[in-house]
Amino acid sequence: MPELPEVETVRQGLEHHVVGRTIDTVRVLHPRAVRRHAGGAADFESALAGSRPDRARRRGKYLWLSVGEDALLAHLGMSGQLLVGEQDRPLSPHVRIWFTFRDNGPDLRFTDQRTFGHMLVSRDGAELPGPIAHIAPDPLEPAFDSAALTRRLRWRRTGVKRALLDQSLVSGIGNIYADEALWRAGLHWARPTQTLKPKEVSTLLAAVHEVFAEALAAGGTSFDSLYVNVNGESGYFDRSLAVYGREGDPCRRCGTPIRRDAFMNRSSYSCPRCQPRPRRPHP
Ligand SMILES: [Zn+2]
Repeated sequence: MPELPEVETVRQGLEHHVVGRTIDTVRVLHPRAVRRHAGGAADFESALAGSRPDRARRRGKYLWLSVGEDALLAHLGMSGQLLVGEQDRPLSPHVRIWFTFRDNGPDLRFTDQRTFGHMLVSRDGAELPGPIAHIAPDPLEPAFDSAALTRRLRWRRTGVKRALLDQSLVSGIGNIYADEALWRAGLHWARPTQTLKPKEVSTLLAAVHEVFAEALAAGGTSFDSLYVNVNGESGYFDRSLAVYGREGDPCRRCGTPIRRDAFMNRSSYSCPRCQPRPRRPHP
């Protein structure tokens, strides 16, 4: 599943390859891809034909192209890809939406094998599309307010990892990056948020920034100039993970075997020594 750094890589690709070009035709090849667009496939197509995206933006794992006052909003779901390439290449059976441009240059194909991703046009959504207005800013956005997050965290009665995954508090942090950031900050995932000191919250936010920045740098190196591509993989996943998926392997800081706990139908990985379990854990 694409996480924030991969989605940011796609945003940068859209900025480079799509922004400033006038869309010629739009063809919805599978209605499920526009299931959240109010007017259906024909309305989606006619709303975008002839328009010119002027900016590529992102909040958490949502991407949008501002088109005048409106927005073309996309979520890649589990397997979505946005591919830019020469028009004469073969059309894969997984292409859901196909955009061509008036300059007859490379086209854009929204490809999604598992069809959990979607696109919609949000009227007057250029600044912030309505369907995602309830999602909190992500840590890489200029609008992100770390002082406000610190206050809200300490008011919550929850565990720190649950809070990191709560899109109404902070967006874009998935399971992998939460575990990595908590390890860097030396915090156990079940630490009750109301016991966090302001200094610990700022250390944690700095750790989130670091893991995102490193993943972005790794994603950037595998980015092909012709393709805007995301498939949930990046160099970061192979090389740099400190705890995620490393049960029983030595901690990179202290050598203690990494521990795996069940967590919300998934797993939490931590170092028992660097991230001591709180006396009253919040599961
Ligand atoms: Zn350790």
